[in-house]
Amino acid sequence: MSEQNERIRKDMDMTTDTKPTVGFIGLGSMGAGMTRNLQRAGFPLVVNDLRPESATELVARGALWADSAAQVAAASDLVITMLPTPRHVADAVSGPGGVLEGMADGGTWIDMSTSVPEVADAVRASTASRGIRILDAPVSGMSVGAASGMLQIFIGGESDDVERLRPVFEAMGDPERILHVGPHGAGYAVKLMINQLWFSHLVATAEVLAVGVKAGVDLGVLRDALVASPANSNFVERDVLSILENGDYDEGFALALACKDLGLSIDLARSVGVSVELSALVEQVFRRARNLHGDRAGEMTPFRLYEDMLGTPLRLARVEEVAAR
Ligand code: NAD
Repeated sequence: MSEQNERIRKDMDMTTDTKPTVGFIGLGSMGAGMTRNLQRAGFPLVVNDLRPESATELVARGALWADSAAQVAAASDLVITMLPTPRHVADAVSGPGGVLEGMADGGTWIDMSTSVPEVADAVRASTASRGIRILDAPVSGMSVGAASGMLQIFIGGESDDVERLRPVFEAMGDPERILHVGPHGAGYAVKLMINQLWFSHLVATAEVLAVGVKAGVDLGVLRDALVASPANSNFVERDVLSILENGDYDEGFALALACKDLGLSIDLARSVGVSVELSALVEQVFRRARNLHGDRAGEMTPFRLYEDMLGTPLRLARVEEVAAR
């Protein structure tokens, strides 16, 4: 390790009272809650977003605004990106005025976006002589988990970096579910596979509920039977209730981002040479829902395709309605 890296690591000793300054780029649905929790944990913040208004509250509570990603990096001990797609990450990190222009040699960049390894791999290759530490650390838990500081975090990278940065992760995530899942890129892969399986559960559940109801079975009876069966899943038991009880398709995670994740998942499958017929079908269903309902519709909107076929929303009867029968 170079002398300079050693010095920067000593400066970032998180066992002392002085916490390192965290640079954070991307203050959207997720970044808003994550930065708030970093602030609560006492990390000084320097922030940037294409939408300056997204930083108003953070700045009022003491965060510094930087006009560019390069300025964020120059004023921080480590930089976190939480951006929509790999293209946004590449722009913010390696583009003009990006993180790499401002970061000192031996600095640290953590990408918490749901992405693929290509961008970070290219950065690692182009900065090999600068000793920049890079981790991929995408998350699960939706904007609610970001706001409550209970995200699940999947980290790809080297063990000493993961341990050194654990206090930063613990400010944003559930300490029990901050997982070092392997070398560089493993965090992205785990996150994409989780989303792929969850979206597959969503489409499969919509299909069986629509068919069962059309065949004359009461929705509540059908769901109870599924929950009590070997076909039960976390989705059937818990997550689908936001639709069945409240008609909530989760606008906290936009359909455009869900389609992005499904596309990245298929890209990953292609890059490792695995054929994924089911994943491709699920992606098509999501894209159809996006065409019909728009980019900003909630991630669970594909359910509406099946509700439209039924001609009625899939909603559980309320307790008072059942009592009145
Ligand atoms: P979002 O669209 O709400 O926010 C992204 C923010 O990034 C926006 O404020 C945008 O202005 C900003 N931005 C874009 N390009 C920029 C650039 N070059 N420089 C500075 N700022 C830039 O997205 P989100 O829902 O917060 O998601 C962020 C990432 O987290 C995505 O990769 C998403 O897949 C992932 N994710 C989201 C959720 C969720 O429930 N929303 C859950 C888990 C993971």
